[in-house]
Amino acid sequence: MNDLGGSRVWVTGVVQGVGFRPFVYGIAKRHSLAGWVRNTSAGVEIEVDGPPENLQAFLTALRREAPPLARIDEMRIEACEPHGYQAFEIVRSESLPGAYQPVSPDIATCPDCLRELSDPHDRRYRYPFINCTHCGPRFTIIEDIPYDRPNTTMAPFPLCADCSREYGDPLDRRFHAQPVACPTCGPHLWLQAGGARRAETDEALHEARRMLRDGAILAIRGIGGFHLACDATNRAAVVELRRRKLRVDKPFAVMLPDLRAIEANCLIDEAARTLLESRERPIVVAPRRSGSAIAREVAPGQDSLGVMLPYSPLHHLLLERAAGFPEALVMTSGNLSEEPIAARNDEASARLGRLADAFLLHDREIGTRCDDSVLRAFEGQAYPVRRSRGYAPVPVRLPWEAPPILAAGAELKNTFCLTRGRHAFLSHHIGDLQNYETLAAFEDGVAHYERLFRVQPEIIAHDLHPDYLATRYALDRAAREGLQAIAVQHHHAHIAACMAEHSIADDRPVIGVAFDGTGYGDDGAIWGGEFLLAQYTEYRRAAHLAYVPMPGGDAAVHEPWRLALAWLQKASLPWDEQLAPVQAASLEARAILGRQLELGLNAPLTSSIGRLFDAVAALSGVRQCVNYEAQAAIELETQIDLDEEEAYPFEVDGIAIDPVPVIRAVVADVQAGVARAAISAKFHNGVAGMVVQVCHVLTKAYGVSEVALSGGVWQNMALLERTVPALRRDGFTVLLHRQVPANDGGLALGQAAVAARRAQGG
Ligand code: ZN
Ligand code: ZN
Ligand code: FE
Repeated sequence: MNDLGGSRVWVTGVVQGVGFRPFVYGIAKRHSLAGWVRNTSAGVEIEVDGPPENLQAFLTALRREAPPLARIDEMRIEACEPHGYQAFEIVRSESLPGAYQPVSPDIATCPDCLRELSDPHDRRYRYPFINCTHCGPRFTIIEDIPYDRPNTTMAPFPLCADCSREYGDPLDRRFHAQPVACPTCGPHLWLQAGGARRAETDEALHEARRMLRDGAILAIRGIGGFHLACDATNRAAVVELRRRKLRVDKPFAVMLPDLRAIEANCLIDEAARTLLESRERPIVVAPRRSGSAIAREVAPGQDSLGVMLPYSPLHHLLLERAAGFPEALVMTSGNLSEEPIAARNDEASARLGRLADAFLLHDREIGTRCDDSVLRAFEGQAYPVRRSRGYAPVPVRLPWEAPPILAAGAELKNTFCLTRGRHAFLSHHIGDLQNYETLAAFEDGVAHYERLFRVQPEIIAHDLHPDYLATRYALDRAAREGLQAIAVQHHHAHIAACMAEHSIADDRPVIGVAFDGTGYGDDGAIWGGEFLLAQYTEYRRAAHLAYVPMPGGDAAVHEPWRLALAWLQKASLPWDEQLAPVQAASLEARAILGRQLELGLNAPLTSSIGRLFDAVAALSGVRQCVNYEAQAAIELETQIDLDEEEAYPFEVDGIAIDPVPVIRAVVADVQAGVARAAISAKFHNGVAGMVVQVCHVLTKAYGVSEVALSGGVWQNMALLERTVPALRRDGFTVLLHRQVPANDGGLALGQAAVAARRAQGG
């Protein structure tokens, strides 16, 4: 027995509720080791005895074969004397005061559960809530830690004898799977229409499918909230859904049964396929095939579609292939306009009553609402647009320890961020903080994360904009609780978010290209075409787009023709009747606008490149008024001529970047009858060229050659595709967002990073 050794192992990360203990049990048995494994409130702890080579093999397997949902942050191993254990056991959990650990996000139905779902001999055959340790809801059903059933919304469903046996058997796939359920003991489904229950369980599902086939609009309760659904190939149904939801042009997402169906409608490359099939199951934005049967009204004016695969058993059953039934369903957030997604049954009946013809409901409560995530693929990897279900609340790992900070985030596409140690818990998508309902969802979300991750913030970081509801919340709370408030300039936060997700640890500066729609500047102007020499603690505004007045203020965001007229005037060009934005303005509107420009009344200055995109879109006749954020720029991008290589020139003079030559060239091309597609291409090429040119100027001045791209305008793929390779060709190192969005959905991470370094006097 003297050739025995011993090991103690501590594992932290997402290691609970993911089948980690049974996995450890399995590999310990395989390598004939004795000892035990247990959960603690900080992670998983293991003690094993055995021959040294077996111990080594066990430790290797522990790293290499970890269950699919586990995410190991740290593994600490200590050699020790053998304890003389006789067998391997899973022992009782240990609670450590104040300890916390990451919570698993919601995970798409696994292949084993899918097999059982379609097996007539399985006791969960066609059961819409089937799940196991490897799949199912997590974050959305957890109300507190430790992650045990009584702390989830599954608490009201006592396990039946069969489920209880599976739950207690270390060798079963459902060992300690907290949401485990079956038709005998678990949640169930029903269909409600006109205030009456019309069908139960499987019949409810069949009736829902028949209604969708016949063109109805259904509210369907899912994992993170309600979807509004209709047949995506039925034009009339899609148009009706838009009318009822008060959503004019903003694209809807589409769910299809399998990859084959997606490939029939979209061009899917290897990277997009990997993202679509990942366990996070996001919506992936991909180019639409010309022969697609999906109604144009699903994404008006766009040549791409947001598509996803089913991610819950209910979705798999809804989209089951059968002759005559729809193979593509619009699945859009169950809300009116920009309110938060509905999650409770009563709330849905009240808020979606006039939007849906029927409700497909169930009785498993949603603890935290969570919208679908949206991604694109860029250069073979994920490029996030909205980071929510499947990703939140997995923390972004910080390059250093941070004090407890709450970062309140931005106004639009709000997410907030809480830090603890090296974890930055960036929240799920909250929405546009412009109404009471969304503010309430924000406050609930903050309270939930603080409880879940045991964080008591000492610092509150916020945007400079005094009127953002998130800023007001931050300042009120800081005053009430006596906390330190740290204001972070919007574009500085964008760049810091990009630096933090790339684990830039030291405070060396990078060239931050913050291209955005809006953001409050240090001088009170509206920034958004910024080159920052940025560190976490501070930044220098190294170059920026020339200011132009934004006549009408916020109205100019909705009416790009206003920006076009302002730029014409700045370029000393006449308001020529032949130009589309001039035609779009009545004589009276032109007179008012002229006065605003002349007197500087209600015409704040802006350096936003988003607004320049708007102006060019308006001048080239793409669009004069928008129905959703960045619509004009998106449609300008959509119309691009891929073969056009010419570029409009910006005038770069030191730190001033003047678009006037671009405006002159656009107008000349419009007047010469040059195709819109060519104008779009020359403009995108011109912006990309200007970025490279300015980066060279800044490298010469400051000796920095690392470039971070952030801000909402970097969601423009045509611009990204033109800029990134050009920068690399010239020797720059390019930092791109990969974990959090470049838009305001990623802003809170940057606010937190800046506050963390400033607080430490770094
Ligand atoms: Zn499963
Ligand atoms: Zn059961
Ligand atoms: Fe922004």
